Amino acid sequence: MNKFTAILSQINESQDILVIGHVMPDGDDISSVTSLTLGLRQLGKNCFGSIDYTIPEYYKVFAGVSELRSYEDLCDLTPQLIIVVDSSSPDRVGRFQSMLPHHKTVVIDHHATNTLFGDTNWVDASYAATAQMVYTLNKALGVVYDSELATTNFVGIATDSGFFRFSNTDERVFKDAAELVRFGAQPYFVAATILENKRPEQMRLYCTMVSHMILEDSLVYSWLSYEDYLQNDCVEDDSTGFVGEMRSLKDIEVAILVTEFPKNEIHVSLRSKNWLDVSKIASILGGGGHARAAGCSFKGAELKNVLNEVVGLTKDFLQGGIK
Ligand code: 5GP
Ligand code: MN
Repeated sequence: MNKFTAILSQINESQDILVIGHVMPDGDDISSVTSLTLGLRQLGKNCFGSIDYTIPEYYKVFAGVSELRSYEDLCDLTPQLIIVVDSSSPDRVGRFQSMLPHHKTVVIDHHATNTLFGDTNWVDASYAATAQMVYTLNKALGVVYDSELATTNFVGIATDSGFFRFSNTDERVFKDAAELVRFGAQPYFVAATILENKRPEQMRLYCTMVSHMILEDSLVYSWLSYEDYLQNDCVEDDSTGFVGEMRSLKDIEVAILVTEFPKNEIHVSLRSKNWLDVSKIASILGGGGHARAAGCSFKGAELKNVLNEVVGLTKDFLQGGIK
């Protein structure tokens, strides 16, 4: 039996199911958790979805997002099955990590760096988005798509493909997105909600990042300290997408943004353009991700130290031509 068929039968055999995503959730994660939760509920399952982290406010217009439950609400549950989506390692699920060893766990993910921590792991890095894997699963389970579910499921495909322009944008991305549009997904509503919904404070924070920016050959990097966020009346979500803007510079191979929010909690975002597999750099530093987009996080660290370390390591890769 292949992984996909095994997951179908485990879902069919389970009534109480918990679906969880990762900390610092992005559009694909939120879309995957909500689309699967709504799909399983439609099939009559007693299913809850959760992400152990703050969800950016603007995602709450999409179906299922407001119904996501907190860790505190769900930590005493004893589900027959836990499905973890879009998460490459068990530490990515926040406090839910302690529940995993005691429950049958299915992992559905598209990160090549996945540590295969479930009892059953459907991990396929050829998918641009985990939301496409959820869509494939929902279809196979017989879930019926209306406009709301289609739009929610479309969100993950749109965001993880950079709105159909990243190198992972292939025929299947367009095919899955087109099917969802046929079911009523609203691409313009998704794009406007996610891309054209900025507060002026975010633009000011962006200016701060640009003012710190350093260019060295094909590398560009910058940072935002906790004080920078406070001074601009911003929170960590407000810098989403900034590192991609640095990658858009001419002749750049790697862009790095190191952020601190709150004090001494450091996040590193790495992006590459053509050849360098930044997930290798992130993995060395305890994180993971994809070849062209990866990250890692540190607690109790100094921003400048982390910046120096990641920049030094990236230069070794760039100068050594290490793919
Ligand atoms: P971002 O730079 O947008 O935070 O993350 C880019 C990619 O790297 C995403 O696919 C995300 O899942 C992965 N990633 C970011 N931070 C971490 C981390 O701390 N650990 C792991 N394993 N992956 C991360
Ligand atoms: Mn993803």
